[in-house]
Amino acid sequence: MSEHDLPAGIARHDFGDGPALATRGSPVYGEPTDGEWRRWDPHRSKLGATLAKGLDTGLDAGDSVLYLGAANGTTVSHVADVAGPTYAVEFAPRSARDLLDVAENRPNLFPLLKDARKPETYAHVVEGDLDVLVQDVATRGQARVAAENARFLAPDGRLVLSIKARSEDVTADPEDVFADALADLRETYEVVARERLEPYHDDHLAVVATPR
Ligand code: SAM
Repeated sequence: MSEHDLPAGIARHDFGDGPALATRGSPVYGEPTDGEWRRWDPHRSKLGATLAKGLDTGLDAGDSVLYLGAANGTTVSHVADVAGPTYAVEFAPRSARDLLDVAENRPNLFPLLKDARKPETYAHVVEGDLDVLVQDVATRGQARVAAENARFLAPDGRLVLSIKARSEDVTADPEDVFADALADLRETYEVVARERLEPYHDDHLAVVATPR
């Protein structure tokens, strides 16, 4: 991927071993830093891998974002370095506590201890017409969660979804799992790009889609 393909605020920076994805912000997970830059490790981030594979996610500087499955903030911290208001949903209390620390010096990052399968529980907090919905929940029913949260996206907004095959069915062929998930997703979204995330993440499919 060439530099100009990257969203504003995300760069390829040389930390001493060649160009690597980077954002500007305070470090979160022990990642290498150089001045104001910190490395965005695609091996630890499905969204990082999606960008490293060259997909156009539609994420741009200042965008409003809803992030589902924020865990302890590895990826969403990079998103918040770049984006505007960033709502981060996570239902595991321990991870959500870590997320609060990550948000401490990121005033645009809003952690929400909520279940992404129940969007009505955060609909009063999250503004509508968002630019980007990022989802990495890695649980069964990933397409359904994306469908239920489509209500928050602007008509020209983007879903950037990571589907983990083994979360749907540990025994099935990942390609069959992805085909089923894409069929479900197409009831609510138009898929504009998709790509498997090897070598960064095995048996994961990244999908970029727009609401129908
Ligand atoms: N996106 C994170 C990152 O790159 O830093 C990693 C996410 S991890 C693969 C999946 C996370 O989704 C876990 O922290 C899990 O607790 C959370 N999760 C799973 N189902 C969820 C749900 N229904 N609502 C909220 N969070 C959920």
